[in-house]
Amino acid sequence: MTVAVVCGGVGAARLLRGMIQIVPDSELTAIANVGDDIVLHGLNISPDLDTIVYTVSEAVSAERGWGLEGETWQAMEALGRYGDTNWFSLGDKDIGTHLYRTHRLGEGATLAEVTGEIAKAWDLNFTLLPVTNDVVRTMVTTADEGEISFQDYFVRRQHDVAVTSVRFAGADHCQPAPGVLETINSAERIVVAPSNPAVSIDPVLAIPGVRDALIARRADTVAVSPIIGGKALKGPADRLLKELGREATAVGVARWYAEVVGTLIIDEIDADLAPAIEAEGVKAVVVPTIMKDKADAAALARVCLS
Ligand code: GDP
Ligand code: CA
Repeated sequence: MTVAVVCGGVGAARLLRGMIQIVPDSELTAIANVGDDIVLHGLNISPDLDTIVYTVSEAVSAERGWGLEGETWQAMEALGRYGDTNWFSLGDKDIGTHLYRTHRLGEGATLAEVTGEIAKAWDLNFTLLPVTNDVVRTMVTTADEGEISFQDYFVRRQHDVAVTSVRFAGADHCQPAPGVLETINSAERIVVAPSNPAVSIDPVLAIPGVRDALIARRADTVAVSPIIGGKALKGPADRLLKELGREATAVGVARWYAEVVGTLIIDEIDADLAPAIEAEGVKAVVVPTIMKDKADAAALARVCLS
């Protein structure tokens, strides 16, 4: 079965770790968010793409959920000598990835080409596509400081500030990367990963053509709720839903996605919300959705495809 997975970072990476166990590489395409991307110290950094690569190749730091296992931080310390410090930590090994990406982009390669090269180098053989080769930046308006960049919100403020709105700067001028719309149009199943709806999935949908392509495939599109028992497992998804005027429950997720998703997979703990989700015109499927290990991820991936 050909499968397209719409991806943010950590939640998507965990699901993909399951997908690769049951979907042949040639039939699996991940379409990932690049609204989190940032240039620091002259390096092009794509956190969600890297989280996917490092997680699916089993190289991710288990403790942090991002970056590489066994990482050291000497380059950051060395930068400190020049006062060129930053609140965004880059591990020594991880910097190798950013050096390579920056070098190849400078040579004129597209982000999709470089991403393919990086994935191959980590022995990933499914197709990993950034949603666009162009620049889109997730911007967050905070109650006390006005508009700040996504990483400023997420990393520097530790997402501990009230948000009044989110926008995707530049999205209107972006084109979907080659293959993105074709994959959405033709995949037998489309899966919206359990990623943050407001800041991981919405910036993918904001690229012209993507939302409409998904609307046309609604009947074959399933999402996994990132909200379990009214809480995100990690990160600010629950808080953001509330601050943006939504309900921080699986029902709120169903409403958020109702236009593009025919089915929502929710956790067992939320079984009593199934009727309210179906009242929104979204079919509810109740299963365990917490992916502690590869076996959990494969089981959830199987449900996404059934
Ligand atoms: P980020 O871009 O790295 O912040 O990650 P994502 O947006 O992809 O994922 C963050 C969301 O993933 C959070 O809302 C989590 O609740 C959700 N998430 C992470 N792990 C799991 C899991 O095992 N199961 C489910 N259902 N959601 C998860
Ligand atoms: Ca992200």
